[in-house]
Amino acid sequence: RTVLLWFRKDLRLSDHAALATAVDAGAAVIPVYILEPRETGTGPLGAAQEWWLHQSLEALAASLKEHGSDLVLRRGPAAEVLDALIAETGADGVFWNRRYDPPGIAVDKAIKSDLTARGLTVRSFAGQILHEPTKLKTGAGGHFRVYTPFWKALDGSGEPPEPIPVPKRIPSPASWPKTDALSDWSLLPTRPNWAKGFADHFQPGEAGAQARLEAFIETGLKGYRERRDFPAEPHVSMLSPHLAQGEISPASVWHATRGLDAHIPMEDLIHFRKELAWRDFSYHLLFHFPCLSERNWNPKFDAFPWRDAPDLLEKWQRGQTGYPIVDAGMRQLWQTGWMHNRVRMITASFLIKDLLIDWREGERWFRDTLVDADPASNAASWQWVAGSGADAAPFFRIFNPVSQGEKFDPEGAYIRRFVPELKAMPNKFIHKPSEAPLTALRDAGVSLGKTYPLPIVDHGKARDAAMAAFHGLRGE
Ligand code: FAD
Repeated sequence: RTVLLWFRKDLRLSDHAALATAVDAGAAVIPVYILEPRETGTGPLGAAQEWWLHQSLEALAASLKEHGSDLVLRRGPAAEVLDALIAETGADGVFWNRRYDPPGIAVDKAIKSDLTARGLTVRSFAGQILHEPTKLKTGAGGHFRVYTPFWKALDGSGEPPEPIPVPKRIPSPASWPKTDALSDWSLLPTRPNWAKGFADHFQPGEAGAQARLEAFIETGLKGYRERRDFPAEPHVSMLSPHLAQGEISPASVWHATRGLDAHIPMEDLIHFRKELAWRDFSYHLLFHFPCLSERNWNPKFDAFPWRDAPDLLEKWQRGQTGYPIVDAGMRQLWQTGWMHNRVRMITASFLIKDLLIDWREGERWFRDTLVDADPASNAASWQWVAGSGADAAPFFRIFNPVSQGEKFDPEGAYIRRFVPELKAMPNKFIHKPSEAPLTALRDAGVSLGKTYPLPIVDHGKARDAAMAAFHGLRGE
């Protein structure tokens, strides 16, 4: 028997049900990764993630080799590529772990029914989220729209299955089919190399994911509940890009936090698991509402008078808004491919409610620039901030970018890291340089409008305008 093992967003060997089952069946295994066309909606999401994917595939190929195997790279529509590989190798089975984004589901369904009809064995497995979207149901048998009962159902439905160990040796075929050269896929940026800072913060691949998890458990998890909102502090896991490419399974992350309660407070463990469950909740929403990144969940928002303001959008994208916490966040995103969750909420609120720009513009920008861009979490989170989503924050909860900065970055350490032109500002004015006296600005070497922008909108007025627009919607 020969099985094609189709890797997708599960670029790991551990806790990989499809791989383990193929090996257990005694089949020769041909691991394959297919670069699917962007138009199918299943391809790499954005440029930052393409950078990640390149490194991750290199890491996967290396660890497959260590296990006596290899990785075949092919490009094109998945059905055509698999057909060609079946013809070339005589494979009689195709195994994969399931994905839950609607375009991916559509592609997989069509392939499964076609190959099965032709007599091939097609098997798919769970493992990309803690609990599959169809598994958790409300008391009435429907799907969830609200997080808290979803969490209760998830928590009450038992632990996710124990992670499956890495197979010791992966049986090879007698001969290997041709593979593309990864470099021919041009996933890395050329000039300018905007991703040069990413590698200082991340090590894509399964080993990097494992190291990140261990470091977080060692130094970050204790205090997570209290300190996870402080962007200058190391109290979040930064596992999101690894989870987005499936370099570690959420079940493995969950299980790694078991049995730690002797030295880590239970409240931190539970809060961390609750955040992992938000990822599941986002997939639950996407699965049941496939247009999550395109359409308002709450159609009342369809009439919202968004502003067409490309100049303001660009200032937001470049971190030139004159609000230091917003600028620090947008620059962290650009320089590292990642942004702290609290600051994601602040920057998103600023785009939507201070600039009155459609949340879909922000969703698109994040999709292109985040190394953890995820079709479910990104869309669900943008709709959450906009107030248009399922179980969203109410629209009228408008973040004040100055007081948010003062609360969550009181010493300005995060600002000083990403907005170096404000490095010498005293704490008192680091979040509101436009209110600083001239002497303070001069001493800090800041010239507003020259070395650092003046605020592009007045938050108080912008807030009033946003509320007026919201109250103008029918039914408010
Ligand atoms: P931790 O705090 O260590 O949490 C552990 C894991 O739980 C994360 O890796 C992530 O998988 C999951 N998680 C945590 N918070 C959330 C959340 N609110 N929603 C869903 N899952 C969560 N997350 C993405 O993975 N991809 C995205 O594209 C994305 N876009 C976002 C856009 C906006 C506007 C906002 C407000 C949030 C977005 N998030 C997204 C959610 C969240 O910001 C990130 O998951 C988190 O910051 C990742 O950092 P971490 O791994 O250190 O998180």
